[in-house]
Amino acid sequence: MSVAERFRELYGYEPEGVWAAPGRVNLIGEYTDFNDGFVMPLALPHTAVAAVARRTDGVLRVHSADTGQGVFELAVDSLAPRSGAGWAAYPAGVVWALRDAGHPVTGVDLHLSSTVPTGAGLSSSAALEVVTALALSELYGLGLPREELARLAQRAENAFVGVPCGIMDQMASACCVEGHALHLDTRDLGRRQVPFDLAAQGLRLLVVDTRVKHALGDGAYAERRAGCEAGARALGVRTLREVEYAQLPDALGRLAAGAAGAAGAAGAAGAAGAAGAAGAASGGTPYDRIRRYVRHVVTDNHRVERTIALLDAGDVRGVGPVLTEGHVSLRDDLRVSCPELDLVVSSANAAGALGARMTGGGFGGSAIVLVESADGDTVAKAVLDAFAAQGRTAPRLFPAVPSAGARRLSRDASPGGTP
Ligand code: ADP
Ligand code: MG
Repeated sequence: MSVAERFRELYGYEPEGVWAAPGRVNLIGEYTDFNDGFVMPLALPHTAVAAVARRTDGVLRVHSADTGQGVFELAVDSLAPRSGAGWAAYPAGVVWALRDAGHPVTGVDLHLSSTVPTGAGLSSSAALEVVTALALSELYGLGLPREELARLAQRAENAFVGVPCGIMDQMASACCVEGHALHLDTRDLGRRQVPFDLAAQGLRLLVVDTRVKHALGDGAYAERRAGCEAGARALGVRTLREVEYAQLPDALGRLAAGAAGAAGAAGAAGAAGAAGAAGAASGGTPYDRIRRYVRHVVTDNHRVERTIALLDAGDVRGVGPVLTEGHVSLRDDLRVSCPELDLVVSSANAAGALGARMTGGGFGGSAIVLVESADGDTVAKAVLDAFAAQGRTAPRLFPAVPSAGARRLSRDASPGGTP
């Protein structure tokens, strides 16, 4: 049944339209978006598809085909941040963010169905937010630019749902273009669509969803974020974006000196304290941690620049080793990987992949593998065999085909990209 048919069945009338917004994978630039840094996501063919209609009576009703729950009914003028509501907080948060920004949203009926795997690091949450934001912008004639949709969606997730994510996921879902990766500067949302036609190059980018999610993840994300902010304070910059790659040795040296003199230096000691407040899981003294986090962010920003240079020069294969380097940095410096993600990378590379890395927040979720098309099946089998040999749940593999960002669909479309 199409989402429009199901809408009709649930609410007893026709939706005004049907919209889709994709999930994404990030090619390179991880844990950089909350540091004003660079990222390079591409949209997946997997989408959240929503049938939507306006209401004039202040009622918001939302339903998902994917949860087994009934219709959530809420009053738009009593929407309050962090009030729970489970999955419905994502679309409700978008309504709240729109109204809080002064847009006159007077009620909504929404039914959605999504093929974006949830909690797999592929941004099912952003797909849900962005499809809601686009539908409401169009239905209410708000004419919001794509980056404004992304900002409102991020605000919904940060302030309403209560997840402190950066802007990458929402920008990817709102702004990606088929056949391209999105080079995004998260400081000013400056962006460039970079042609990324892997098939024409005889290449494939595999997504490997490990289907595990370690509980550690949420607190660790906040701790890495706090640690990066502490690093920026200790270095006297607003964000780590301002630390150029060429300045990295000097910055690390200053942080080491700060560690040595921490007892005497109030500012630096404050920074170390802030970073040390959470995350004993990550090991080392606060200053060790901050230095590792700074090194990851600065080198990963540089890896985005190197990737762009390689793609502009037509050397897509050259990106492979950069991906693997990025994984090592996430594993050893930021320490957000896990045995399953490391196993994808090691088994894929041992079987002849050009490079691989975890993508997204880590602690489970997904990895990406760049591989010659001719070797794709061999590498995929090697990854599956490696998981089987360790008695682990089989991961799910599918090709990342760079797809379109959020858009209006014809009425009876179903979600695409079923793996
Ligand atoms: P990710 O964005 O990486 O998939 P998140 O934890 O950020 O993981 O978001 C997952 C959450 O988004 C789910 O727990 C659920 O609340 C919501 N969500 C995503 N897709 C759907 C869907 N199809 N129906 C209902 N809720 C969904
Ligand atoms: Mg998410």
